[in-house]
Amino acid sequence: MFDAGKLTREVCKSFQPYVAGKPIETLKRELGLKHIIKIASNENPLGPSPKAVEAMKDVADKVYFYPDFNSTELKSAIAKYYKMKINNVIVGCGSDELIEIIARVYFNPEDEIVISKYAFTRYQMAVKIMDSKSVIVPMKDGFVHDLAAMAKACNKNTKAVFITNPNNPTGTYNNQKEFEEFLKALPLNKYGMKPLVISDEAYHEYASFKKDLPDTVKLLKKYPNLIILRTFSKIYAMAGARVGYGLSSPTVIDYIERVRPPFNLNKFAQAGAVASLADKSQVSRSLKHNRKELKFIFDSLKNMGIEYVDTVTNFFLMKVSPFKGKDVFKKMLKEGVIIRAMDEYDLPDYVRVTVGTREENELFLEKIKKVLKK
Ligand SMILES: *Cc1c(COP(=O)(O)O)cnc(C)c1O
Repeated sequence: MFDAGKLTREVCKSFQPYVAGKPIETLKRELGLKHIIKIASNENPLGPSPKAVEAMKDVADKVYFYPDFNSTELKSAIAKYYKMKINNVIVGCGSDELIEIIARVYFNPEDEIVISKYAFTRYQMAVKIMDSKSVIVPMKDGFVHDLAAMAKACNKNTKAVFITNPNNPTGTYNNQKEFEEFLKALPLNKYGMKPLVISDEAYHEYASFKKDLPDTVKLLKKYPNLIILRTFSKIYAMAGARVGYGLSSPTVIDYIERVRPPFNLNKFAQAGAVASLADKSQVSRSLKHNRKELKFIFDSLKNMGIEYVDTVTNFFLMKVSPFKGKDVFKKMLKEGVIIRAMDEYDLPDYVRVTVGTREENELFLEKIKKVLKK
């Protein structure tokens, strides 16, 4: 009998396939509901720039051509946007892909990778598949990355540190002063280098109203070991197109380029992202909507006496004890509202909720009041 398991790497046997939520249409049928809203995946309910949609439609009849293998136009647009050079830029099929490619390029077995507790979960998977070792550092009070403790956790074997800023799923952030002190404090490793610092900034634009948010692009000049990851999936509302990018020093980028799959961004993604980056009004509209709606939601939660974690992003953590997040997720689903339980993040008493349209937020508040018996 052929047994594929005998040929499989041990580490891969411990992985589980990614389980995405069921499609809304399937849920409607199963639950007998007419109306279901999804506020579970930090998507921007205002949608993408109309210019991006137009640009994607415009390339449809050219789809028989391969896309530009190097995404040159998009890289140039990103470089120009940040006043950098094209060799400071790498693009990925979502920043998710870049996290994986960085791991493949830089992580050896036995290298240590420092990650915060309650940070985005994808890093640990990327580390594991390379047979490297994750070192998990507890957060400070208030669900904030403890950057001083993370610097202290670095030793001769540390190859990289991941920082999610602002963080998913907590919605918290680290400020300029903390971040700069952290970069300074990092010790040299056995390679005689400071470890790579991967600053995953998927929600940077949503937090841009904070004056003390780190200006990491500026810090790149002084810290060539810094890699900034940003994405078109969140405020730009193009999650379905899969476009992320990284900014770093030319040599760091050069090695990542050697491993990046060619054609990793399709024609639609490239064209849409270029147009989206040029539309500043879509970003400012989305930011304004988000801050206004968060105030509306939090005022209501306060009135109901529900505990939440204040956020600079487009989602927030909410405490549901004495209930369990898993059960609240199920009950809300039956009411037609999809939110996210946090068991995979080791936060069983919490759920994560994405800011929706005003209508969606009103429905969420009505249903959470019922489910939590407030
Ligand atoms: C959503 C998210 C990503 C992934 O974004 P893609 O570009 O869609 O792959 C990366 N990091 C964090 C923290 C996120 O929340």
